[in-house]
Amino acid sequence: MALPLGETIAERVQLVLSKIRSTAVKAGRSPGSVRLVAATKTVAVDRLWEGINAGLSILGENRVQEAVPKITALNQATVRWHFIGQLQRRKVRSIIGLFDLIHSVDSLELAQEIDRRAGEAGLCQDILLEVNIGREPTKAGFYSDDLVQVVSTMPRFSHIRIKGLMAIPPLTAEVELVRPYFQKLRELAGQVTALHLPSVMMDELSMGMSNDYEVAIEEGATLVRVGTAIFGARYA
Ligand SMILES: *Cc1c(COP(=O)(O)O)cnc(C)c1O
Repeated sequence: MALPLGETIAERVQLVLSKIRSTAVKAGRSPGSVRLVAATKTVAVDRLWEGINAGLSILGENRVQEAVPKITALNQATVRWHFIGQLQRRKVRSIIGLFDLIHSVDSLELAQEIDRRAGEAGLCQDILLEVNIGREPTKAGFYSDDLVQVVSTMPRFSHIRIKGLMAIPPLTAEVELVRPYFQKLRELAGQVTALHLPSVMMDELSMGMSNDYEVAIEEGATLVRVGTAIFGARYA
């Protein structure tokens, strides 16, 4: 794990934001083409304020019961929320309307439930499909071999919009070893785009965390989810 270099949360936010921009530019991309989602699990509200004041504009939460009080406590902040953790179907109803984007849709049943609940609430929920890119039994997500088939035979949802793909690749000893997984996710997005399905866009690739977000940006990430490099190591 790359150690955060800055002393304070504010310094680390600035550091990560500038690294995101410089990595994008070096890769021939526009500096605004990659957005930072700060992963905030276990991080208390006062430290989130510090991050927001330093320039964080999207916070990503993993757990419904942790997210809801934080969203309430930070309702004066100009910050958007994304849901990035595993989502149980029975919790969908309580989060509809709170998150701009749900990164972690890992089954058709979950997509169906989000569509149903978003419909009841009269809104349209943006989602990403999570891909188990390393075929790890401990991880959630669609297998890449199945994804094109799943997406092309999916029912037409009227209250969700599929905006792209998300993946958490296997932990590797060296950061370079993770690059092929990011490449694979980008290729998959290309295959889905080629299907030209209505309400399925592949504009977003959510990939890259504290120790590999630069590689992910080189491989096309549009959303990087970074926790430790901003808030320090988690003890929970
Ligand atoms: C915690 C978490 C992250 C951030 O991980 P770090 O290594 O702390 O940057 C990213 N994505 C998800 C889904 C997470 O749960």
